[in-house]
Amino acid sequence: MTDMQTEIMTIGECMVELAPREDGAFNRNFAGDTFNTAWYLRHALPAETPVHYCSALGTDRISERMLGFMRQAGIGTDRIRRIADRTVGLYMIELDKGERSFIYWRDRSAAKLLAEDREWLAVAVAGKSLLLFSGITLAILSDDHRAILLEVLAKARADGASIAFDPNMRLRLWPDAETMRRAVTQAAEVADVVLPSFDEDSPNFGDASPEDTIARYFKAGASTVVVKNGAGRVFARHAQEGAVTFDPQPVTDVVDTTAAGDSFNAGFLAARLSGAPMVEAIAKGAALSARVIRQRGALVDLAG
Ligand code: ADP
Repeated sequence: MTDMQTEIMTIGECMVELAPREDGAFNRNFAGDTFNTAWYLRHALPAETPVHYCSALGTDRISERMLGFMRQAGIGTDRIRRIADRTVGLYMIELDKGERSFIYWRDRSAAKLLAEDREWLAVAVAGKSLLLFSGITLAILSDDHRAILLEVLAKARADGASIAFDPNMRLRLWPDAETMRRAVTQAAEVADVVLPSFDEDSPNFGDASPEDTIARYFKAGASTVVVKNGAGRVFARHAQEGAVTFDPQPVTDVVDTTAAGDSFNAGFLAARLSGAPMVEAIAKGAALSARVIRQRGALVDLAG
């Protein structure tokens, strides 16, 4: 995407996940949209391409454990701030007759302060060829910190980085829908690549079709837009390569669609970084997410 040495960073919040087991106990995992994408990018990219995570953690034992998990996965943690009186956010998956719901505890989450220090953030993103963030990254920040993040990303883009953004709209994280829409649009204005999901953008922005979603993000300034749509057709456009559609292979044995979009983003971006044309990169994204949704959990075993 650029002449810079390829170096990737995703920015956001990783949380502790408590996932119920059949015996009534819980598994403790680590997950979060932007972290999931870093994890799958690590899988999809050659080992020599650095993948970093940018966030903030506490200094307590569970923060240490999360950091250790990231390092063990081969993800760079140099740009994770440590904040002494904060900790990690937590969510629990509730299963009721097969229906999943999520309960969150993130009041004291350190990640909410990841954009508190403009100078620190500017140094963290410097020299990266690709930076990815999401609507959840934006939602957890105060208005002032959100403005800092977007300014720092705009500067990184002016310095040659590609910026990728997944709108990942979670209304309950925002004070109201209008604030969310405004922030997502501002984020798209600093992004080169926007990776929305039609089932979120359509109700929130009133897009009648995926082409409307593409047109709206192009108008905001994006040069690549890929509209995911669950099992349905992927619609995309690139400023030079033009409009592309792709029909994902049907997956009949879906187990858990958690991280479908996050892993799609990783497969797509990794393929683009290696020079793949749009349709091939979308196929790579769809193939990776098809593997992910056949297994339980956000971060699945891809060995073999
Ligand atoms: P998100 O997790 O962001 O809501 P989607 O549900 O749109 O993302 O899914 C992202 C990608 O995952 C899709 O573009 C598709 O390639 C793949 N995918 C998701 N659900 C299915 C499914 N039921 N069958 C086949 N592929 C799927």
